[in-house]
Amino acid sequence: MHRTPTRRSPLRPHRNRLIAGCIAMAAVLGLSACGTASGALQPTATATTPGAANTPGTGNGTGTGNSTAAGTAPAPGSDAAQPRTPTAPADPGRATATGKPVGTTPGTTTSTPTGTPAAPPAHPGQATKVIGSTASGGRTVALTFDDGPGPATGQILDLLAQYHAKATFCEIGQNAAANPALVKRVLAEGHRLCDHSVHHPQPFEKLPHDKAVYEISAAHDMIVKAGGPGTRIGWFRAPGGGFNADNEHIAAGLGMDSLGWSVDPRDWSRPGVAAIVSTVQSQLKPGGVILMHDGGGDRSQSVAALKQLLPWLVAQGYTFDFPAA
Ligand SMILES: [Zn+2]
Repeated sequence: MHRTPTRRSPLRPHRNRLIAGCIAMAAVLGLSACGTASGALQPTATATTPGAANTPGTGNGTGTGNSTAAGTAPAPGSDAAQPRTPTAPADPGRATATGKPVGTTPGTTTSTPTGTPAAPPAHPGQATKVIGSTASGGRTVALTFDDGPGPATGQILDLLAQYHAKATFCEIGQNAAANPALVKRVLAEGHRLCDHSVHHPQPFEKLPHDKAVYEISAAHDMIVKAGGPGTRIGWFRAPGGGFNADNEHIAAGLGMDSLGWSVDPRDWSRPGVAAIVSTVQSQLKPGGVILMHDGGGDRSQSVAALKQLLPWLVAQGYTFDFPAA
């Protein structure tokens, strides 16, 4: 079921598609995933996390957010929900679901069954680019894990080490502060870090400027402090993919590029190991960025899926890379 979306707009560059899809989804479901998830992990946050609060809103999120147009890509729940940015012109095709995909396509709402509420308000400003591909291109893949560090992070690191795979961890500031040893281990084993906000509030793209500054900059500081001197954070990934021109610029001011994704198996929603694996296998294209989660609740399916995906990626001739910057 998930795949559909991906292929929908063959003509468009991945990113746009994804973005649009994600965004749309995000709008629709967005809230659920990450919010939920993170809430779980976050020590403190739970109550606080806006994300959590939102979650409910989107009834759709649940099930499948996918039902919508995008079906696939965008993961409702988790961060996934929306990856990219408004920047991207939305794909008319997929935009649908939400009514407002990425910002652009107004009219497209059309057939979307979803009934979705309106998407987040459009952000007029100039958005920066949201990365959805690997640094080297070619037959490479970038694995990214969101919402940690948490209880599953160690198992994921063990698996990655077994396959000599490198990944990027989009960490929630307060989780990093609560698990500094895991942040240090991520760095020591050659992986890279990404700022995923302090509390994972959603819809992130609706935060007032001052709050966005706090969520992004304080998380940056917390992750750096947890990682130790010299810790560098190359990317920022908005919770739920809620990028907009404002938060992208805030991140850029801190030296971080905005990181989206091109493959979203919606592992945060625990669709089953087989579903996670098959979605990745069907959606991944060379140079892709896979969105998975090492935090946000029970990640046993994510870990089990990764255990199957790593050997598959190797067998397919993929080499592990970091996202473009
Ligand atoms: Zn997240």
